[in-house]
Amino acid sequence: MRVATVDGRAVLIHGEGIADIAAASNGALPADPQLVYEHWDEVRALAERIAAPEAPLDVQALQAPVPRPRQVFAIGLNYAAHAAEAGLEQPTFPPTFTKFPTCLTGPDATVELPSAFVDWEVELVVVIGRRAYEVAAGQGWDHVAGLTVGQDLSERIVQTRPPAPQFSLGKSFPGFGPIGPWVITPDELADPDDLALGCSVNGEQVQKSRTSDLIFGVDALVHHLSSITPLLPGDLIFTGTPSGVGGTRTPPRFLAPGDELVSTIEGIGTIQTHLVDRRSHS
Ligand code: ZN
Repeated sequence: MRVATVDGRAVLIHGEGIADIAAASNGALPADPQLVYEHWDEVRALAERIAAPEAPLDVQALQAPVPRPRQVFAIGLNYAAHAAEAGLEQPTFPPTFTKFPTCLTGPDATVELPSAFVDWEVELVVVIGRRAYEVAAGQGWDHVAGLTVGQDLSERIVQTRPPAPQFSLGKSFPGFGPIGPWVITPDELADPDDLALGCSVNGEQVQKSRTSDLIFGVDALVHHLSSITPLLPGDLIFTGTPSGVGGTRTPPRFLAPGDELVSTIEGIGTIQTHLVDRRSHS
């Protein structure tokens, strides 16, 4: 099953078409795409009942499939090769920060660059479908609604500036959390723990890995995070980025106005992010 957002409303993607979740359920289920995760079992049951789509799917019209999560967790150093390129040891507990939810944007977004030091980070993003607290190892996936593609865009100066690096702020400028194009349930994937992922800048591939290389996979992340704080339906976990970011290259490389960032995860889909100069907001 795939769930997306069109015109601010939750839709099921059905073949080449879409079905509005609230309309198809005669109002029993919410139109608000953030609230469908509170009713995930009913949404899945509805998807089984729908016989035909109501409208064609316009991929260009898709918005962030999860627009207002209460919590957005993001994990650092979760691929061994990325920890190595950053010159850091592999962690024994997932290093965690937040992306403030106002940074989220859709799968075909234009994002302003606040500085000349903005970097790319393609990531598998987990969407929680069931409240998760003190979840045992091996039961993490039971609390997952689905998966989507994300970019953990990162302003490296704010993120790393001494004496107090600010990961959460450096990764939360407006538009720094593109996600989409939809949320897909794990049963649609041959092996949801082994997905090829990567991204390209202006057609040049800059990251390429597999989620099977995650140090803490989806199950382990739900287990570890929920040992401290409850994960709530509709929350997101940005699971960490593989090697190939720009900031640790010699010389460093960052995103520039006019760049086109394309991020893909096997079996899920592709998102495009168009980078532009910062405009005045005064
Ligand atoms: Zn990241």
